[in-house]
Amino acid sequence: MGPREVMARLLELWREYALIRRTSALLEWDQETCMPPAGAGARAAELECLAGLAHERLTAPALGEALALLEQWAEELDPLEAAQVREAARARGRALRLPRALVEALARAAAEGLESWRAARELGEFSLFQPALERMLALKREQAGLLKPAGGEAYDGLLDEFEPGLTAERTARLFAGLEAPLVGLLERVRSSRRRVDESPFQGDLPREGQLAFGRRVLEAMGFDFEAGRLDASTHPFCSGHGPGDARITWRASATDLRPCFFGLVHEAGHALYEQGLDPALDLTPAGAAVSLGVHESQSRLWENLVARSRPFWEAFAPALRECLPLAADPEGLFLAANAVRPSPIRVEADEVTYNLHILLRFELERALLAGRLEPADLPGAWDEGMERRLGIRPAHAGEGALQDIHWAMGLFGYFPTYTIGNLYAAHLHAAAAKEIDGLEDRIGRGELGALREWLRIKVHRHGSLLPAERLMEAAAGAPPGPEALLAHLGGRVRAVYG
Ligand code: ZN
Repeated sequence: MGPREVMARLLELWREYALIRRTSALLEWDQETCMPPAGAGARAAELECLAGLAHERLTAPALGEALALLEQWAEELDPLEAAQVREAARARGRALRLPRALVEALARAAAEGLESWRAARELGEFSLFQPALERMLALKREQAGLLKPAGGEAYDGLLDEFEPGLTAERTARLFAGLEAPLVGLLERVRSSRRRVDESPFQGDLPREGQLAFGRRVLEAMGFDFEAGRLDASTHPFCSGHGPGDARITWRASATDLRPCFFGLVHEAGHALYEQGLDPALDLTPAGAAVSLGVHESQSRLWENLVARSRPFWEAFAPALRECLPLAADPEGLFLAANAVRPSPIRVEADEVTYNLHILLRFELERALLAGRLEPADLPGAWDEGMERRLGIRPAHAGEGALQDIHWAMGLFGYFPTYTIGNLYAAHLHAAAAKEIDGLEDRIGRGELGALREWLRIKVHRHGSLLPAERLMEAAAGAPPGPEALLAHLGGRVRAVYG
């Protein structure tokens, strides 16, 4: 057999693994959207079984033999084939370090943790979730210990799953550099005499009208309703099942459009990435989205750089008035979309304080994994961190340590990718504004297609062909750093608060 035949064998073996993973993702989507509560036990067993099967496929000797041969022939591979080998070897290398029983236990704990989190969150009662978190954390500490790179810390092994190659130490340095400028911006807002009127988005707002307006904007963004769907859930998310099936969920407040609307645009940004992946590479190692930071750059770019901009509201204020009893003008909507006000809830936070939420979660989960913090002390540490960073204290655990779904599902090492995504989003947007003729004017006319196509060509269709940072550099023509984000935030704060 030559390299081409072995590559075909590799892709055939990978396809089965990818199909098992995709089936799990579909069951997880179902668990969060339509599964009846009494189905939870059966679902945990199903997900545990599939996690074991996926692990078996990924660690199978046949896959290892194909990879070993292809690695020998590295010089003969083209860039796509080299990426297929790199991504498959990476996933297999991680899987080989973990016993199947641990992988299965993690899947079961995630399914059970989700149910216990949901019940605890509804009552704002952390003690109801604490036992599930303790079980999950014990498993994550074990997993992190097995994945820990030489010379690194436990957290690195988990972060690497979501943002390949990134370490806790590098993240801490990056975040430390962001903190002072962000706190400075918050101080500027606090000392400003201007108060932003948030009423343009507030009223007695029927859910149907909120969804109708969201759908109008999603259509303009180019969300393909034939290749995606919208459903309600406790925690908004996007679930990708290949370019032909990207599902997003939403939740609404009865009195403020912003949680529903910006959440929908955010998740649709994720879905456009999934819908824009190259179908020819579907179910191959290099065919998937490259990292969560890049994924988040897509959602945050649409949510913040586009949907919170002045031209956007010039274009969409009339549609808003048609769908909802809001008599708002574009300038009022622009200002209200950019009100900076520390809020206990991360997903509803403004752009300035959002990253401070992430800094806190990073600090807490790093301490949890290292054993410096125990679940019983989490609510106290959370509230203290909120007070220190944002000057507010959650009224109950539902808007404190219970607000996010991540730790319940075992997603430790995930939060930093949100801030990475914010950095990438601003970096990409600055490049798009230079390269797309009259981007602001187009958005002001409600024409969002040119930006979507630019993202499709520069980011979406590449899948995992290039590692994340190199993809960002290739797309934007310069390596990503914090400059574009800080310039963007400084500009917005000036525009709104003087
Ligand atoms: Zn997101």
